[in-house]
Amino acid sequence: MNSYKIAAVPGDGIGKEVIAAGVEVLQALADRDGGFKLDFESFDWGSDYYKKHGIMMPEDGRETLKKFDAIYFGAVGAPDVPDHITLWGLRLAICQPFDQYANVRPTRILPGIQGPLRNVEAKDLDWVIVRENSEGEYAGQGGRSHRGFPEEVATEVTIFTRAGVTRIMRFAFELARSRPRKLLTVVTKSNAQRHGMVMWDEIAAEVAQDYPDVTWDKMLVDAMTMRMTLKPGTLDTIVATNLHADILSDLAAALAGSLGIAPTANLNPERHFPSMFEPIHGSAFDITGKGIANPVGTFWTATMMLEHLGEKPAAERLMRAIERVTVDPSLHTPDLGGQATTRQVTDAVIAAIQGDNA
Ligand code: NAD
Ligand code: MN
Repeated sequence: MNSYKIAAVPGDGIGKEVIAAGVEVLQALADRDGGFKLDFESFDWGSDYYKKHGIMMPEDGRETLKKFDAIYFGAVGAPDVPDHITLWGLRLAICQPFDQYANVRPTRILPGIQGPLRNVEAKDLDWVIVRENSEGEYAGQGGRSHRGFPEEVATEVTIFTRAGVTRIMRFAFELARSRPRKLLTVVTKSNAQRHGMVMWDEIAAEVAQDYPDVTWDKMLVDAMTMRMTLKPGTLDTIVATNLHADILSDLAAALAGSLGIAPTANLNPERHFPSMFEPIHGSAFDITGKGIANPVGTFWTATMMLEHLGEKPAAERLMRAIERVTVDPSLHTPDLGGQATTRQVTDAVIAAIQGDNA
């Protein structure tokens, strides 16, 4: 029997609530399947850890994570710790050294969920956003001089490398090729940003030569927000920089009904290091502790983790269970306009897994 070691890193706020739900659902799935085992170990890293130890995770945290097959991550962010400390101290402290350069974000309108767009059916909104996850605007380079003085200057340096852009472009073309429509949109801002973004456009054209079966086009990121909203059916696979795709994927999640349902995989495609799976949303301290966080994004994330581990039938079973639950409005959490709790949605998904006879 295949057995996988999964590191659970719930982090902060509702991250703890949704990861607890996700672990329960995954255990139920493994029990129902019988063909594989999941061995979870949980780590209490995050803002509470930071307040005690002055760091978000222990110095040897990455060494510890290396021996796991995957990382199941909640969210970071606390009202009383600066966001750049929590983000760089934990989430990016895992993504960057583990070279999880491909951030994959599927979006579609799940059965029973009503997005905010009029006249858009589920078939018109079925996208995968590929976010460059290792460089670009989040390279962490820059500085501040004359801090606090009127002359203060701060720079936030965006770094693109030919190697970094080429590998994400190849990843995106491969993904586009694997999907029925074989359609890729490359998003840049090469009118205003004339170095890195122009290199993106050039590399896209070069890589495209190896994928004659993929239809591709280019969009400027500002125009892309309009196209996503007004002509969602013209899009399929989308590739964009770290910052642009970060923003576009929250828009995508909202157009598909809620940030609470959107999943992410941070992949190290070469599998030199573990990959990390998380819902897109943050720690949502406005609803922390209320028991109403939507766990669907964290469950959908789990399907991506199972696929990555090679357990495709289990991933499909979980997706069927999720869809059997979203179709029922009485099982919608408040972010979807309903009144259900995290507990009720979790129990319903577990029941759907147990009742799934396929
Ligand atoms: P957020 O994603 O936490 O919340 C945005 C809004 O969506 C809130 O109103 C929240 O209640 C709602 N929401 C989010 N997830 C939900 C869910 N599962 N169910 C129901 N409603 C949900 O973003 P924010 O408010 O901008 O940031 C809060 C904190 O999270 C900040 O500290 C931020 O830095 C951090 N953050 C972390 C990550 C991450 O860890 N990957 C991502 C985004 C934000
Ligand atoms: Mn984001």
